Amino acid sequence: MNFVDTHTHMYAEEFDKDRKEVMDKAIKNGITHFFLPNVDVHSIQPMLNLCWDYQDNCFPMMGLHPCSVDEHVEAHLFQIQKWFKKRKFYGVGEIGLDYYWSLDFKEQQISAFKKQIQWAIQIDLPIVIHSRNSTEDVISILKEMHHPRLRGIFHCFSGNNQQAKEVISLGFLLGIGGVLTFKNGGLDKAIEDIDLKHMVLETDAPYLAPVPFRGKRNESFYVLEIAKKLAELKNVGLNQVAEITTQNALAVFSV
Ligand SMILES: [Zn+2]
Repeated sequence: MNFVDTHTHMYAEEFDKDRKEVMDKAIKNGITHFFLPNVDVHSIQPMLNLCWDYQDNCFPMMGLHPCSVDEHVEAHLFQIQKWFKKRKFYGVGEIGLDYYWSLDFKEQQISAFKKQIQWAIQIDLPIVIHSRNSTEDVISILKEMHHPRLRGIFHCFSGNNQQAKEVISLGFLLGIGGVLTFKNGGLDKAIEDIDLKHMVLETDAPYLAPVPFRGKRNESFYVLEIAKKLAELKNVGLNQVAEITTQNALAVFSV
């Protein structure tokens, strides 16, 4: 039985003191693949270092996170885009819109998102979307930019049941994370009648730790807690959740 963490920032400084220990524990417990989304120009090197140390397990993505969009957005995008020519990346991410932290650069967020979607279509890569408090706008941009090669994951999906179905019809998978284990998180209701074939597992470590670690530092090993909760909700064995979500993850990232 093995698991894929489709969204983890194990390169973050929160793990500087014990990264090897935490990575080795996850691998020993069956987490075989770690997909690492980039966030800004400063996170690239730490991310690539981790991929170098764990070449069989870690797979990098490249993109500019919406919370990293500021008045220097054009310069950042210019630097990030150059990386696609330098080595292989498995997705364009994480990209999207964040209306929770700040609306100061909303217009820039939208144009950076669209620009990076264009890259993904050109290079033929999946996108990994951050959509905090912005599910509706993200969905309408995806509709507007519809293309047969446009695909990917709604990371930390937080919409309702109708939005879940819309996202799936647009060719996207739902990234299921720690929120599923939260009391009154609402995600259980949103995915009640959604088939496992539309879902992948993720932690978003070091953020959003699942119960019983809620509020603490998250790590990829905890993807097991999310898988257990999903198995319970869907009334299937843990091995079935492992098998189907692993298959979905490796297919979307072409691994
Ligand atoms: Zn993330």
